[in-house]
Amino acid sequence: MAQRRKKVYEGKAKILYEGPEPGTLVQYFKDDATAGNGEKRDVIEGKGVLNNRLSEFFMNGLASIGVPTHFIRRLNMREQLIRMVEIIPLEVVVRNTAAGSISKRLGIPEGTALPRPIVEFYFKDDKLGDPLVSEEHIIAFGWASQQDMDDIVALALRVNDFMSGIMLGVGIKLVDFKIEIGRVWEGEFHRLIIADEISPDSCRLWDMKTGQKLDKDVFRRDLGSLTDAYTEVARRLGVLPSNVTHATKPTLIN
Ligand code: UDP
Repeated sequence: MAQRRKKVYEGKAKILYEGPEPGTLVQYFKDDATAGNGEKRDVIEGKGVLNNRLSEFFMNGLASIGVPTHFIRRLNMREQLIRMVEIIPLEVVVRNTAAGSISKRLGIPEGTALPRPIVEFYFKDDKLGDPLVSEEHIIAFGWASQQDMDDIVALALRVNDFMSGIMLGVGIKLVDFKIEIGRVWEGEFHRLIIADEISPDSCRLWDMKTGQKLDKDVFRRDLGSLTDAYTEVARRLGVLPSNVTHATKPTLIN
């Protein structure tokens, strides 16, 4: 199957193949993990399967509250069918609690609650190390229009509220996350939708009681098993690959 399909793009954690219909792609989740712009790398068995499931879960949830996404349906353990979009070359980060680069850049201790959610933009360019940019740069260089930016901020904050709530329900604090946005064209107009993936690879998730990290920082900072951390997130959300026998979906008792 995968061999016959044409590869459209290969990134660090995913591969995109031509989809079965025009305007679609198949997104394949690899087990590869990278950090520090590819300086640290490893293969984490099962990560791709977990992220495929988790991204499906979050994208479906977003769709159910009216936030448009590229997700169409999951095809198998590692692949999902998605809409083809024109990716806006930005990493859109929303932060609720200080951690990672904002802590370093501004000297705010990790774990400090921010006064309000902060939306940041990074220019997607590995060679430049994804530099922080402002709306001024984005509009001046034509990466997105003012209208796009207003829509992107609104979308990012809706994703933040949704994801924070979902995580709160299972005892996890959503510290920050990254999303990517795509354009889909309808005649001469375009709409913006959530693209790429939403998974523990692109979020910071801390257990609310213990502070334990349940995200890619486990890999970045060598804190233990990444698969165990992601499996714990999936287990709490009731999302687990069907071949795992101890799945604990809530069951209704009549
Ligand atoms: N992030 C990501 N991809 C990147 C950079 C960051 O998914 O290329 C996510 C990261 O997992 C975290 C959030 O965006 O949830 C903010 O990351 P930060 O700017 O603190 O950078 P980092 O400390 O990860 O270098």
